Amino acid sequence: MTEPTVVVAAALQESGRLLAARRSAPPELAGRWELPGGKVEPGEDPKRALVRELREELGIGAELVAPVPGEWPLKPGYVLRVWTARLLSGRPRPLEDHDELRWLGPDEIWSVDWLDQDVPAVKAVLAAQQP
Ligand code: C5P
Repeated sequence: MTEPTVVVAAALQESGRLLAARRSAPPELAGRWELPGGKVEPGEDPKRALVRELREELGIGAELVAPVPGEWPLKPGYVLRVWTARLLSGRPRPLEDHDELRWLGPDEIWSVDWLDQDVPAVKAVLAAQQP
């Protein structure tokens, strides 16, 4: 069996808020919200891949803070892994794959229609932050 393709995504946080990104493509995912990220290229380090995706998709420099414990299945052959991250430079803009970004405060996390597969990942992000 071949190893699953890893999709990496960031829980980018600033002043207690979490960045959510609304997908503009493909049609079956458009309009749903996700933690921004993307596929790791063959042979690429997952953390470097995530920093690259954040630069390409949002135009920002970011620093990964910690892995969020867990791994979540996506479509067959793909798994999702998440890191918490913070902004180093730039202000996120929806340059690729997204048409809207929103910083969600603690009371707003469930106000957007997250992709089904991102829901457990977002829950794990919140759980990892409980004191
Ligand atoms: O962004 P990209 O198209 O590279 O993502 C690869 C796959 O991972 C897509 O099918 C996308 O829906 C999925 N994905 C996801 N949750 C994320 C990021 C990507 O389900 N937070």
